[in-house]
Amino acid sequence: MMDRMPLLEKCASRITVNGTVFGDGAFGWIAGPCAVESRPQLEASAETMKRCGIGVLRGGLFKPRTSVYSFQGLQCEGIALVAEAKKKYGLAFISEVVDESSLQALLPVADILQIGSRNCLNYALLKLAGRYGRPVLLKRGFAVTMEEYLNAAEYLAASGCREILLCERGIRTVTEVTRFTLDLGGALWLKSRYPMPVIADPSHAAGDAALVSPLTLAAAAAGLDGVMLECSPSPECTRCDSRQQLTPDQLTGLKEQTDHLLKHCRGVR
Ligand code: PEP
Ligand code: MN
Repeated sequence: MMDRMPLLEKCASRITVNGTVFGDGAFGWIAGPCAVESRPQLEASAETMKRCGIGVLRGGLFKPRTSVYSFQGLQCEGIALVAEAKKKYGLAFISEVVDESSLQALLPVADILQIGSRNCLNYALLKLAGRYGRPVLLKRGFAVTMEEYLNAAEYLAASGCREILLCERGIRTVTEVTRFTLDLGGALWLKSRYPMPVIADPSHAAGDAALVSPLTLAAAAAGLDGVMLECSPSPECTRCDSRQQLTPDQLTGLKEQTDHLLKHCRGVR
């Protein structure tokens, strides 16, 4: 029997950030590079989002990398670049927090705090991240059951957060040809039982840019509340997750196709 989640019942079913709405029938978009790498890269990314009508820019500054020898993110040095791009293009920003010092560093620029797959069950971080009156995007850990995931979300709620954005980013299964397996069924199950909006992250699930568009369309058709996508001005020379970055042209095409599908299948304007 699953634990009771009394606070999740009280969470928002609709989260609005800078005009972007997630939930209650609306399909919200978050896109941007895996990691913030340089001023030109971030500036070009922000320009793409603005042009596509996407209101929330993503970009990691504190990257939890599998190898300690991989690029770890610009960390505090990237904060000023983000502030500049946000102001110039009028965008909201989401970035991953990994501990207390990264959270404090990101507070001046992050409109949504992201807790990544690897930290989904980091209870100290969950207790901390819910305290700031900001929406928190909680990714499902890639080997985390629904019961564990819901309990993690309840930790956020217990620390004061009522705007929790759940994010299915793929789990480990026997399928080894994609990076992870996007659990659309699990995401729909969550939506059928709890009020919180649930979005998909097809970029990390697939690990392959060619699969990101069809999986985004599938998430939209299925009734999820939005997507978070990775997109870089030049995917081939990014320092992080390069195979799964959409080009700006691919993102533009996908946004148009998805808007069309939403309008005709779900009646979303
Ligand atoms: C990310 O969003 O760049 C990221 C690291 O994702 P995940 O936590 O899902 O691996
Ligand atoms: Mn990434």
